[in-house]
Amino acid sequence: MANNEATTTEELRAPIVTVMGHVDHGKTSILDAIRKTNVQAKEYGGITQHIGAYQISYSDKKITFIDTPGHAAFTQMRARGGRAADIVVLVVAADDGVMPQTKEAIAHIKANKAPVIVAINKIDLPGSDPQKVKQQLAQENILVEDWGGDIVSVELSAKTGQNLDKLLDAILVVAELEQLKANPKGELEAVIIESRLDRKRGAVVAAIVKSGTLRVGDKVSASGYSAKVRSLMDDKGKMLKEVGPSTPVEILGFKEVPNVGDLLVEEGSDLAQLAVDEQRVEIVGQDTKQSIAVIIKADTQGTLEAVKASLADLVASSVGATFSLKFLHASTGDVTDSDILLAQSAKGIVLGFDVRITPSAADLADNVKVKYKVYKTIYELIDDAKELLEGSAHKEEEKIKGRAQVLQTFKLPSGDIVAGSKVLAGALKEGSRVAIYDKNPADLTDEDVPLYRGVVKNLKKGKDEVKLVGKDVECGVLLKPQFDDIAKGMFIEVL
Ligand code: GDP
Repeated sequence: MANNEATTTEELRAPIVTVMGHVDHGKTSILDAIRKTNVQAKEYGGITQHIGAYQISYSDKKITFIDTPGHAAFTQMRARGGRAADIVVLVVAADDGVMPQTKEAIAHIKANKAPVIVAINKIDLPGSDPQKVKQQLAQENILVEDWGGDIVSVELSAKTGQNLDKLLDAILVVAELEQLKANPKGELEAVIIESRLDRKRGAVVAAIVKSGTLRVGDKVSASGYSAKVRSLMDDKGKMLKEVGPSTPVEILGFKEVPNVGDLLVEEGSDLAQLAVDEQRVEIVGQDTKQSIAVIIKADTQGTLEAVKASLADLVASSVGATFSLKFLHASTGDVTDSDILLAQSAKGIVLGFDVRITPSAADLADNVKVKYKVYKTIYELIDDAKELLEGSAHKEEEKIKGRAQVLQTFKLPSGDIVAGSKVLAGALKEGSRVAIYDKNPADLTDEDVPLYRGVVKNLKKGKDEVKLVGKDVECGVLLKPQFDDIAKGMFIEVL
């Protein structure tokens, strides 16, 4: 606990809700229907704005909905000690039942231990069979109340509006149980839910405040970028001077585009540092884990079963292994963003068999430091798994995205400082977010803080500008913002 003042001034805050489920089961329709019936845009003479989330008033209480359905909205938005969303509404169409993305959503919900409410949608359709949906959910270990469990389920129709109010009631009940609190006077902590570059307005960033208060004029930072908040606008188009906990807001003032899911904090605050440190602890933490969560993707159901069976055999026959495997999710198809995000939250790995990884999933995996590998033969896969079991797969070097050491520095006539460096592991890329330490990042303890954080503005190999420099190569590094005190011997670590 931080201090007494912080605990005594905590106040109940509105729940932040996200919607998940299979495509076409009605996620967007439910979000639209709720917004339409519960928000009077005219209230402010404004027009409803899409800022990635909206807030409604219902039964004298407020509820915030993240309106970008999808798993990223939930898993990627993990704030310090929590996540952007407090409650997940799992939407299942009553005429279609549990489908692959429903199962995927369930895996995310379980990995994050999130409170869940089941919304059985489209009950207006003649083919609807809510009982069958409940039974299918039970098979996935989602036990709703009339199946002996304690998960609330609501049968509704986004089309007719039937029982939408029951869903809102259920959300308020779960929120009450969760006792969601925040301190409006505490340190600012907001989670970025959307960010994009607008030609006219610069970076447009949407965030939900989790704690503290965000004000126009505040100096904030996110993803290593700093900004002075120029304006704040809510989802009804109203310009605000300040916003408190659980309120979604659109922020202007950033020049660069911070990452979705990152924390937005006061510039230079302890939290800014903590976010960096925790990221590191999480990665190091993988080494000490006894059980490795594995996500398996294969081209067909048949191969999937074969891969699972072979891996299970391997675990059973490995006496004295340092690691065991836990199958978190197994499905057919390419490795997607969702698989990577699931692996991230469960600190697991993704193994693919005769499938591809989508380019965006590969980028994401690099960004969030998730290990994945795609195999062509089952033998290769089993060999690798064996290594995992023997505890040799998580070698330090494989987890390093990029690390370089400064060999010498020079000042250009323009005043820019170039750090002549050698890449020790991984790669340096133009645009990489980096931290600089005065000791080898492999030997860092929790007390160590970086001397600097910023971005690689420019890379040179000899006289040529390059986009990427690999291991054992010497290069010239230009940083943004400039780090005046950079010196020989320091380490540049890609974040
Ligand atoms: P999402 O992909 O989960 O966001 O699904 P959408 O909200 O886009 O809905 C998919 C389709 O189902 C659309 O054609 C909707 O009009 C329809 N739909 C959504 N909810 C209902 C419902 O309650 N009843 C009926 N009959 N159709 C619905």
